[in-house]
Amino acid sequence: MIIKTEQLILHLERAPGNLTWEMLYPEWIDEEEESVIPSCPSLPQLQVPHKPRIDLIAVKLPSGRSSRDVARLHLQLEAARLAASSKIQHQIHVLLVTDHFPIPNLFSCKELVAREGNAWLYKPDPFRLLEKVRLPIGSCELALPIEPEGPFYSEGSGREAYATILHSAQAYVCGAIVAAQSIRATGSNRDLVALVDETISDDDRVGLEAAGWKIYTIQRIRNPRAQEGSYNEWNYSKFRLWQLTDYDKIVFIDADLLVLRNIDFLFGMLEISARGNNATLFNSGVMVIEPCNCTFDLLMDHIDEIVSYNGGDQGYLNEMFTWWHRMPRRMNFLKHFWEGDSEESKRRKTDLFGADPPALYVIHYLGHKPWLCFRDYDCNWNVGFYREFASDAAHKTWWKVHDSMPGNLQRYCLLRTRQKAALEWDRRQAEMANFEDGHWRMEINDDRLRTCVENFCSWESMLLHWGEQNWADN
Ligand code: UDP
Ligand code: MN
Repeated sequence: MIIKTEQLILHLERAPGNLTWEMLYPEWIDEEEESVIPSCPSLPQLQVPHKPRIDLIAVKLPSGRSSRDVARLHLQLEAARLAASSKIQHQIHVLLVTDHFPIPNLFSCKELVAREGNAWLYKPDPFRLLEKVRLPIGSCELALPIEPEGPFYSEGSGREAYATILHSAQAYVCGAIVAAQSIRATGSNRDLVALVDETISDDDRVGLEAAGWKIYTIQRIRNPRAQEGSYNEWNYSKFRLWQLTDYDKIVFIDADLLVLRNIDFLFGMLEISARGNNATLFNSGVMVIEPCNCTFDLLMDHIDEIVSYNGGDQGYLNEMFTWWHRMPRRMNFLKHFWEGDSEESKRRKTDLFGADPPALYVIHYLGHKPWLCFRDYDCNWNVGFYREFASDAAHKTWWKVHDSMPGNLQRYCLLRTRQKAALEWDRRQAEMANFEDGHWRMEINDDRLRTCVENFCSWESMLLHWGEQNWADN
């Protein structure tokens, strides 16, 4: 049989030479300003005369470039746009020749039909591609309105869930319980899924389930480049989210978040949607992801070689998913007051925390977590390094949700003796430093100080922890 094929060479005009990745992924866009809506620069589009029938689109991507390269993105987006507009949509193939993997959330590994060395052959679903190429090209524009309207229904809502993760220690269990409470209070009835490793006790699992979380037991994942015992050592466990294939879409939330208004509309967004963090990067505390075993494999395949800028999952995921979509900051509002913030931006942030903040959807409790502080005030005030995270208004908001929970859930938020000692230690350090905010002077009425979780809560054991703290700090 002779198959007659015709080749058509399409010329794609280059993006302007002065167009940088930073222009497509600016650190900051003005989301609140209604008069000037930020807009992305436009990239030249492929011109295809006479709309021929196309069976295969072959693209060679420039080699030796970084994963954040405008030309690489441009070529892949245009190949996707062409494939999405094809007349014989069910048969089109895309062949990418590249020395670096193709954009994994544009060309899905689920649609990969063959790979040999640098050649990747996909049979993409054109309708999915169309949704993707309609998004802003970078995070230079919001991919979602700043205040989405009304409740969000979707046909597949049974296959959509909120998820969080608890690994390595019990410390975040209370946070996850309160977070679940806050989601339910917004009227969402999506599934809640908690990935927990073996360090989370049976009793903690009972509490998590009572709060509404379905428990999935996982094996935590070690960052092979992390130092033993470091804070970020097991944060790669988040990759397990991609194994939640009972679901098509996951809205991941860190366990140190409070949801204040319904955010079910996030299920209408695509992988990966998140808020900006710094530079061209996104924050991995709230992320829309699409579970898929082969994406999980891809994440694991590069674990020895990809360097995460902060040693954590956020840095790693940003290397994998350089093409991400921006959700408004208020959907993952970082409780963070930079010393370098302008007076204007400080005022804005403080306004957002008003008595009953109308504009905030999610508060992300960076720094010391509220349940590990005295309830009387935000203990971030007492530690020099953490002071930029201190906000009494945000702290109060968290405790309001905590107090609305039944007692059988509140018991997961009790203070351990060691933590009580650490808090008192920090308070005295703040006193010695004579921090001018004076929070260290406040009388502490937190009932939890008088409640004992462990078997021994004597003064002796308090002093023992005190000694340890002293030892650790010197
Ligand atoms: N986490 C965990 N155990 C840990 C550290 C982190 O389960 O020992 C999870 C938890 O869900 C947490 C998330 O990983 O919310 C990210 O860590 P964290 O919130 O402490 O980072 P931050 O947002 O403060 O940078
Ligand atoms: Mn967090």
